[in-house]
Amino acid sequence: RVLERFCEFGSEPGALERDGILDLLKGAVLEGGKDGYSVLVGSSFIQRLVQNRYYKDLLTAFREVTQNPEISFDVLVQPENVPRKKRKVVRNSGPEGGLSPGKPVPLPLGEDRSPSWNSNLNPRYFFENYVVGVCNQFAHAAAFAIANNPSKAYNPFYLFGSVGLGKTHLVSAIGNCMIALYPSLKVLYITTESFLNEMVSAIKFNKMNEFRERYRKIDVLIMDDVQFLSGKERTQEELFYTFNALYENGKQIILSSDCMPNDIPTLEGRLKSRFGWGLIADIQIPDFETKVEILKGKMAQEKVDLPMDVVYFLANSIKSNIRELEGAMIRLGAYGNLMGKPITIEVARNLLSDLMPLSRESISVDRILQEVADYFKVLPKEIRSKKRHKTLVTARHVAVYLIRELTQKSYPEIGRELGGRDHSTAIYSFKMVEEKLESDPALTSDIVYLKKKLEQQG
Ligand code: ADP
Ligand code: MG
Repeated sequence: RVLERFCEFGSEPGALERDGILDLLKGAVLEGGKDGYSVLVGSSFIQRLVQNRYYKDLLTAFREVTQNPEISFDVLVQPENVPRKKRKVVRNSGPEGGLSPGKPVPLPLGEDRSPSWNSNLNPRYFFENYVVGVCNQFAHAAAFAIANNPSKAYNPFYLFGSVGLGKTHLVSAIGNCMIALYPSLKVLYITTESFLNEMVSAIKFNKMNEFRERYRKIDVLIMDDVQFLSGKERTQEELFYTFNALYENGKQIILSSDCMPNDIPTLEGRLKSRFGWGLIADIQIPDFETKVEILKGKMAQEKVDLPMDVVYFLANSIKSNIRELEGAMIRLGAYGNLMGKPITIEVARNLLSDLMPLSRESISVDRILQEVADYFKVLPKEIRSKKRHKTLVTARHVAVYLIRELTQKSYPEIGRELGGRDHSTAIYSFKMVEEKLESDPALTSDIVYLKKKLEQQG
């Protein structure tokens, strides 16, 4: 009845999370004793989730149902779910401190994962230290739902966004949360690069069967940075088989990338379509408030103390990469420590201008086109046009290459910028330049010269 009442609070914001929590609370036991009531839940993760987020509502429901406004309860972990080793340690902790056998022991978060399976997850990335803002709220909500309902919410889940915006953090948080909720799940985090390397060495040592076996055993596959599948045919083929095997067996697949599946150059059509079968969500550039919140969290975590005006200055100057934002904060903190001086905006400004002569987004497509046009003695509008004489074609390839290298634009955007060409034309241009760079010294020096010029002037 308490849970039923608790459910009725569900129409407010946060209902999504509560839907997940209800499932988790189904197995919970309410126990009454002379020293009060306890709710016994299945794991320390649920315990903490309830304590941190739902205690108030649960208590309200509890008081209403019992019609006793004084009553309260503790949230404890069911004794059979406390790992054996832990229980022993607690029992042995001395005559007074020792708990009687069977009495629930509160546990810290994340202590009850299966010891035999190595998930390869970064243990620092949690939902709890992931700041939610407009830029990522959809991705976060989806991620949270997936973590609570592996294979049932959205499968596969494809997360994309520019570099340094928190993709690795969010997909790792899903994994860490799942392990805490469902300790027996075999979750595996792997970067696309490691997948490729493992495969190459499996081929070399004639161990492809073992390689496949290993990946077929997983319950949850988290594959980071799948844009690196581009140009890797054999890896794509292998992933295709792995994907099918996992998907058909109802296993959860989570992918991250810096662009949409369709924009990954040379990705096989069958993978493109599979990547989109479930849910695709993106992370956008964070707004000022979100950046400030993230900085505050990281400062607490790293024990760095910067004055708020410097925090605002950083959040304002570093537009679109949280990793850079974090890096600047840590370096400023270190600088303050070393010099024994307070960090002022002036100091921050100087340090930043050394660290980041130019942040990427300040180079505009128009400027690149102008510089390229000047260099090849043509006009920007000719580069955008359909004309195809030799110099123009080269200028166009070079422009695409530089835009891709120096801005955050995706191939479809680059295509549009260049007079409404489609993304495959842009990809073709980029590849052309990339391939020729090795063998064509003239082109290489054009590119080096233009890149330097663009980067210097900002
Ligand atoms: P990506 O994989 O997209 O390149 P990461 O996940 O590596 O980015 O994030 C870069 C850094 O920024 C990490 O230290 C991460 O913890 C931090 N970060 C990104 N987004 C957030 C967020 N919303 N809240 C807290 N930290 C964040
Ligand atoms: Mg990453």
